[in-house]
Amino acid sequence: MNNDTCYANTGHGPLFSFIDIGLKDKVVLIEAETAFWSIIKVDAVPEVLSKDFIKNFNNERQSLLTEMNHLRFGLKPTAVYINPTDRCNFNCSYCYLPEDLRKNGEKMTNETLFKILDKVHGELTAKENQKENPKGNSNFKPQIIFHGSEPLLAQDVVFSAIENFSSKFRFGIQTNASLLNERSIEFLTKHGVGIGISLDAADEESANDIRKNWESHGAYDNIVKSIDALKGYPAFNVITTITQKNVNKLVEMVEFLHSKRVGIAMLNPVRCTQKGGDQIKADEQLMIKYFTAALDKSYELYKKTGHKLVIANFANVLAGIIAPTGRRLMCDISPCGGGRCFVAIAANGDIFPCSEFIGIREYLSGNILQDKDSIATAINHPAMKSITTRSIEKIDPCKTCSIRHFCGAACPAELASVHGSISVPSIYCKFIEEQIRYAFRLIANGEEDAFLWNSWKEETEETLFITGQVPGKF
Ligand code: SF4
Ligand code: SF4
Repeated sequence: MNNDTCYANTGHGPLFSFIDIGLKDKVVLIEAETAFWSIIKVDAVPEVLSKDFIKNFNNERQSLLTEMNHLRFGLKPTAVYINPTDRCNFNCSYCYLPEDLRKNGEKMTNETLFKILDKVHGELTAKENQKENPKGNSNFKPQIIFHGSEPLLAQDVVFSAIENFSSKFRFGIQTNASLLNERSIEFLTKHGVGIGISLDAADEESANDIRKNWESHGAYDNIVKSIDALKGYPAFNVITTITQKNVNKLVEMVEFLHSKRVGIAMLNPVRCTQKGGDQIKADEQLMIKYFTAALDKSYELYKKTGHKLVIANFANVLAGIIAPTGRRLMCDISPCGGGRCFVAIAANGDIFPCSEFIGIREYLSGNILQDKDSIATAINHPAMKSITTRSIEKIDPCKTCSIRHFCGAACPAELASVHGSISVPSIYCKFIEEQIRYAFRLIANGEEDAFLWNSWKEETEETLFITGQVPGKF
């Protein structure tokens, strides 16, 4: 772009658009390509289209673009999701893994898991890998997240790995909590393991109806006991999957989790990667209604009590707007984190861009147990590459959507299953649009801190080399 360009929206000038955020006197000005934005008073529109503003913007534009491109294409994996077993003791209808795998799949041995961890550690801490990453320093520890199926069905193997590799990795575990008990919680917290627990409703009847084992029994009592036992543990969160069955119970869920002093929760729409999820997908308008009501409730309770319950998937959208490097999750950007920030390894060693792909064989990108394969070869595999080079600029209507770099048109695994193509917009397009409008309203009203985890500012500063962009308010 020519720095002498003095006009927006014509010739070589930057392409600005305005979006309505539901406020009478303010709109958002966005330059979509760089994700630059500014909240402006409606009567200041002539000012931002002035020659001075355009010149100043043009002076900054190239560096904003470079930073955005680095965030989108310049990172390398620092984490691996590992399914230590394919099997699960639960049979949730919306699971992203095929039923046969959950019933009859494999379980890793100690030897296998240790071999994988050794190999993965060597690769993720290699010098050429670290220098590309924001936290590239000698204290860098890659992250391993034991995921499912139900990783605690392989508790012996998982715990032994945590004990033996705690100096090399930071660990996390995502569990249905049915097998958690006092001793396992003590072990996990003693080793500083991040713990995510799944719970879909505040009341026992609904929770046990939505998530149940092969004999149709839920684990509500044990889940609540575990939540109580984990009170005050900082690396703990609860994940709620939104479906037709609980969409109207999100406010109650927030009240319940807040009453238990949970600090971080996620209210994630069900992924439709398997048919079961697609069949119980909630109506999008209802999702918008109840999700925003749940956000309002979390704000109200915070103001009333001083205890903050962060809805992390929304906080991630908000952080992605305020400072792209403040993101903790990598679904809301295109290409998404699958294959770029992390990879997933199934119980037989197969490598995929993300756990969400484990049931889709076309995206198999190698096997970590084979000498010829590694994370590096997997990243260069055409299947993985198709995800890491997925370009939102080639998707209709995302390519002209002003909020495309806050949305990301997730999730490619879900889209591959539902539409047979990853070059299509998100199945939750309207839902994410409304979250982004809600986020901008908060920023315009100066309320964003109440929705973000407390350390977000420091974390953003740590990784500021990716982007120095500090969006302005007029
Ligand atoms: S999925 Fe929808 S909101 Fe997201 S970038 Fe595409 S058009 Fe925009
Ligand atoms: S968008 Fe889907 S494939 Fe990408 S990181 Fe998120 S869950 Fe995984």
